[in-house]
Amino acid sequence: MPSYQTTGIVIGRTNFGEADRVVRFLTAEHGKISAVAKGVRRIKSRAAGHLELFGEVNLMLANGRNLDVVTSARLVWYPHELVAAYERLGLAFAMATAIDRLTEPGQAHPQLYTVLREGLRAVDAGASGALPELWFKLRLLETLGYRPELAACIVCGRRDPGTTYVFDPARGGLACAADAEPGAQPFSHAAIKFWRLLTDYPYATVHQITDAPTLAADTLPLCDAFYEHHLGRAFRPIIE
Ligand SMILES: [Zn+2]
Repeated sequence: MPSYQTTGIVIGRTNFGEADRVVRFLTAEHGKISAVAKGVRRIKSRAAGHLELFGEVNLMLANGRNLDVVTSARLVWYPHELVAAYERLGLAFAMATAIDRLTEPGQAHPQLYTVLREGLRAVDAGASGALPELWFKLRLLETLGYRPELAACIVCGRRDPGTTYVFDPARGGLACAADAEPGAQPFSHAAIKFWRLLTDYPYATVHQITDAPTLAADTLPLCDAFYEHHLGRAFRPIIE
């Protein structure tokens, strides 16, 4: 069987057969890969500890007829600080799950890999609350081609620092006062600038912005509405 080497982050796992598991990785070069890890649910499995959710793993994979097969796995990074940090663990889980659900195998996504890697490292280093969540959603939307319009009115194209804008999730971005739906709340110029920065910059840069936690908490619900409208699902699925 031809084999290949790559590095991936574990974004999902499903039990398979008696002792096997199908592991889904996000890689920079190959996008999402689903591969069978044989025997990993046996106590003595050597690979098991290297295939935990969120881990970044050096992999050797063999091309299979349906699914590729993991022939070796070596963990290179794991968010150890998330153990028992439930709020941050929940965010990490939502990040990995969102990418797992929004991607198909065989499409390369180098920028998406960078976004997930930065997001997991940020929450492991202590990022919590609305800021890392808003940053991740805006970066994810941008990377998948759903960037909200934040430069001009989406209806008339008006760019005017003197006008009042609202953010219209269904129409895809800013609307000037003349084109706003009745009752829409103003979206401040500070918020517009903040969202542009979040959409374009790494977390290490945006978390230094003054008032970032407050701006993020105030505007996260509008991003949620945009995300659900354009991606057709909530970022945090309701687990029953
Ligand atoms: Zn307009």
